[in-house]
Amino acid sequence: SAGKSTWRLYRREADQSRSVIARLSWKDRILDALKHDGFELHFQGIYHAADKSLAHLEALVRMKDAQSPGEIIMPGQFIPHAETTGKIIEIDRWVLHQVVDLLSLRQEIPSIAINISGRSFDEPGLPEYISRLLASRQVEPRRLLVELTETAAVSDMRDAQRFIDALRATGCTVCLDDFGTGFSSFAYLKQLKADVLKIDGLFIRDLPVNHDSEVFVRGMVAMARDMGKITIAEFVENEEIFNMLLEIGIDQVQGYYLDRPSREHPSLMR
Ligand code: C2E
Ligand code: CA
Ligand code: CA
Repeated sequence: SAGKSTWRLYRREADQSRSVIARLSWKDRILDALKHDGFELHFQGIYHAADKSLAHLEALVRMKDAQSPGEIIMPGQFIPHAETTGKIIEIDRWVLHQVVDLLSLRQEIPSIAINISGRSFDEPGLPEYISRLLASRQVEPRRLLVELTETAAVSDMRDAQRFIDALRATGCTVCLDDFGTGFSSFAYLKQLKADVLKIDGLFIRDLPVNHDSEVFVRGMVAMARDMGKITIAEFVENEEIFNMLLEIGIDQVQGYYLDRPSREHPSLMR
């Protein structure tokens, strides 16, 4: 593209600096979005498997595309950058405030789940912060569920454990998200005293065709039941999967078979 009769020397460093620039620009976009109302929330239902009645909603964040108005950027694109730049902490706080305000305004909404990045585990002040926020808005703590995503960031089990204990002490319900992925799931189950396990969609979407997934989900559900924990399956995409989960004894389900995330979830409409 520079024209004929020219050459360039390739150096690995140049590549790296380019990726730093790319990351900086994502960081700027995220900072800009945080400053200028650039995020929005969509909500998806989690339903009781037994009768398909609504158990609670999950809040899922989206970024408004500043370059093309009306378009949204999905979390798969910006969350990884938010994690590497540390901005995820501020995004999660923005979501927390939005959801607590909504719960405060709409006392008839049973409960809403938010996602908190594992990066927050080394923020020992967060559970106390959540507790004060809930109290100041007169929202009962049990109406807030906190889903913790197990990422590579969970390097220190003791930090995670301390964080979860403090969170549960505030009265919020704690859920281990994406359960079953990563190497340390079983260590997690033994050490982290969560109330809810959300089994990763990886094991759910191929349930009808993958015997290993079925064995895994059955084992997980049986174990969770013995430990007194609630189980949720995500990525429930069709009736066949739903019926299998019902037979396996899962407590709650989430997925396109029931509804898709939307800005105006039917249960939020008056
Ligand atoms: P997640 O917490 O595991 O959320 C479930 C994702 O699966 C959502 O994607 C949802 O739209 C999608 N999904 C739900 N049902 C189905 C289904 O039946 N089939 C398929 N194929 N997909 C389904 P989404 O909204 O794109 O979010 C992706 C991830 O981004 C979330 O995964 C979560 O890890 C992260 N995320 C979203 N919002 C936040 C947030 O506020 N804070 C943090 N830290 N992470 C967030
Ligand atoms: Ca989640
Ligand atoms: Ca997941």
